Amino acid sequence: MAGEQRVISVFGSANMDLVAYVTSAPSLGETVMGRAFHTVPGGKGANQAIAAARAGARVAFAGAVGDDAFGTELRAALVDAGVDTGLLRVVPGPSGVAHIVVEDGGANSIIVIPGANGTVTGPDEEAAAVIGRSRALLLQLELPMAAVVAAARLPGAEVILTPAPAVPLPGELLAEVDLIIPNEHEAAVITGAADPGEALEALLDLVPEAVVTLGADGAIYGSRDGTRLRQPAVPVEAVDTTAAGDTFAGALAVARAEGLDARHALRFATAAAALSVRRRGASPSMPSRREIDRALA
Ligand code: ADP
Repeated sequence: MAGEQRVISVFGSANMDLVAYVTSAPSLGETVMGRAFHTVPGGKGANQAIAAARAGARVAFAGAVGDDAFGTELRAALVDAGVDTGLLRVVPGPSGVAHIVVEDGGANSIIVIPGANGTVTGPDEEAAAVIGRSRALLLQLELPMAAVVAAARLPGAEVILTPAPAVPLPGELLAEVDLIIPNEHEAAVITGAADPGEALEALLDLVPEAVVTLGADGAIYGSRDGTRLRQPAVPVEAVDTTAAGDTFAGALAVARAEGLDARHALRFATAAAALSVRRRGASPSMPSRREIDRALA
């Protein structure tokens, strides 16, 4: 793999999102007619990999898909975005899927069936070697916890964790994390503090750097070196906030890998996330480097 130090590795999930649009979601035992149906490549791992690649980095994605048609499509979506899928394994059985029902007005319910993601036990030897040479390793919590911990323990890359879905975090994982990026809800679950500012301080007792994302209110950043920053969001007409957090995390990793300081890296990630919420869909909405640079000019 070329680019040695500048590679960003992502070890995480790839899911096919099966999205049904309905006026009102069916209750148990009920059948309703829907308005539209889309299959969209997703999964927090794949989303962050695509976001980082679009934002201008060389990205390697490690994880697993099934030996079904969705697996082929999930790989193709990553390849289309320029992500290296040499570490993406094919395992017998179904790929991960997220079954999503979106009501008019945007409220949704989601069932995730991990499929191939649930079979991952940790980075294999080849993946471990690439991660070890990477500038950053992006992790989320849609793979089995033991697999995430095994990846985080590898020496070398800066470990950036998006703690979603929100679950209690084992100390053995926190000990390896350099930067954690929860949204407001996840920050509250991890720390028990409902106030984001208090949650940020509590997170810094656990890891050296933290960003709490606040949706349309932007993000706050803290570091154990004493730095505290508040970054407002870019005001935009939000069409679809799916994967705003994944776009933010992918872009932030790219900015840090390029050596930007905390303030400029936050601005870069915020611009990328704002561009993504102006368009529909998860990975299809993620902005290119040129779009991000233009927004920042
Ligand atoms: P998640 O998608 O993980 O729930 P957030 O909703 O906090 O995360 O969004 C992540 C980032 O995306 C925010 O910090 C902000 O920069 C950007 N963002 C989210 N919603 C909006 C919005 N309505 N307008 C502008 N930017 C937004």
